[in-house]
Amino acid sequence: MPITEPPLDVLPGPAALIGGERLHSTGGGSYQHVYAATGRPTVEVRLSGADEIDAAVRAARRALPRWRAMPANERRAALFRLAQLVTGHAETLSALQTLETSVPQRFAASFPVAAADFFGYYAGWTDKLAGDLIETWPSRALDYTLPEPYGVVAVIVPWNGAMVSLAQIAGAAIAAGNTVVLKPPERAPFTALRIGELCLEAGLPPGVVNVVPAGPEGGDALVRHPMVDKIHFTGSGATAKKVLAAALDNLTPVGLELGGKSAHLVFADANLGMAARQALAGLVINSGQGCANGTRVLVEAAVYEEVLRLASGRLRHIPMGDPFAAGTSMGPVVDEAACLRILSTIDAAGRAGHGRLVSGGGRLDGELAGGYFVEPTVFADVDNESPLAQCEIFGPVLSFLPFETEREAIELANASPYGLAGYVHTGDVRRAHRVSQALHAGNVWVNGFAGIPPSMPFGGTKQSGHGRVGGAAGIREFTRPKNVWTAL
Ligand code: NAD
Repeated sequence: MPITEPPLDVLPGPAALIGGERLHSTGGGSYQHVYAATGRPTVEVRLSGADEIDAAVRAARRALPRWRAMPANERRAALFRLAQLVTGHAETLSALQTLETSVPQRFAASFPVAAADFFGYYAGWTDKLAGDLIETWPSRALDYTLPEPYGVVAVIVPWNGAMVSLAQIAGAAIAAGNTVVLKPPERAPFTALRIGELCLEAGLPPGVVNVVPAGPEGGDALVRHPMVDKIHFTGSGATAKKVLAAALDNLTPVGLELGGKSAHLVFADANLGMAARQALAGLVINSGQGCANGTRVLVEAAVYEEVLRLASGRLRHIPMGDPFAAGTSMGPVVDEAACLRILSTIDAAGRAGHGRLVSGGGRLDGELAGGYFVEPTVFADVDNESPLAQCEIFGPVLSFLPFETEREAIELANASPYGLAGYVHTGDVRRAHRVSQALHAGNVWVNGFAGIPPSMPFGGTKQSGHGRVGGAAGIREFTRPKNVWTAL
């Protein structure tokens, strides 16, 4: 079946959204967006340059007093309206997400639902932020803290799941009383711009959320801006280092949500069929382009071959192809550069003998040849010290490794520069908790995965970043306590 052309009529109009105004021309040049499923160009994305970044930061600063002075119940109502509008525009938003990155509709349909859920959740926080009463003994005094917003928060999001990232982060920042300059990447600006428009429709005052699609230059101008009070960066470790270096000039605080190389730990007493299905999700979901995807599958030796067989046996049944077709589970990777990088990683691993190629390893041809489709790829007996097991490939590649003991499983899982997620599969409840506590990871899922709800703190350790999105921890990322001490 030929690939359906993406619906360009759903694209939002403006090139940037600053202080409530939709700009139609910007000074940061342009980016030719390409639909990854066909390799054909769609539209030229107009990028924000230093002038628009400066205008956006100033607009956010101007909006700050009004936003902070607005009664909490009115801020709550505006955020609830935003959640409802996102729900009401779910179809367009999920189409935009598929157009941006070719993520299949099957998954993209859940993104607006998740984004609305985050906005609704944070709406509920607007009137629940409270400080602490501090013990002052032996002084006779009243001492308390006030949770104050930072001010202008620069929110930089990656291309994969940009809609959910921005709801997770910008939603928390504005609920805590900050204003936001949101920088989506050049490859995926459409959902952010549309949500920016919905923010205005929901009654958020102009300037509370400004959207400036930009590439590295615009991102750099934003993080160097002296009127930015906090930076929240989601993306790769390599870019995070540049962001931290640029933030040094003004000593701007930076929150980081970075990549991962998360492990499944499958013990012999687990439900092996379920564990194999979940392990496969690591390469199916967004074609393996997810920060928390479990891409290293550690399996107890006694059941290793069986789990490998169960997982690789299902590979040929994964429907790949047209991201807009209802039955498609796996689409292409995001662009040609990613496709070539992933294929060369696979090739190099094979040549170096870092693992045994069980399945996949190539690019799809025939009707899919124009797009950037990489076969779902499984390596067995992978060397845990090799790049295959240590680097975030960000593509549909799974590495299987056997282990003999619980201790070895934990050591293998933790022998990684990353520490984002872990997935434990076992029928032994004591082991489930023991292993979960021993893993170097911000989030552990045991015997199942049901997404990342807004109430769950999510984030990493080690090179997966620090700080949390979601839950009470997620909202606290965007406030700092001011202490007030009064003699009595
Ligand atoms: P990336 O690091 O290339 O880009 C991330 C963002 O930074 C983009 O908006 C980009 O335009 C911007 N940017 C690039 N150079 C910049 C600079 N010098 N200064 C400021 N901003 C700059 O990452 P990507 O390829 O867009 O996304 C994939 C990465 O993001 C993966 O590593 C993935 O694991 C990670 N990720 C992490 C999470 C999480 O919650 N932990 C979620 C999604 C993605």
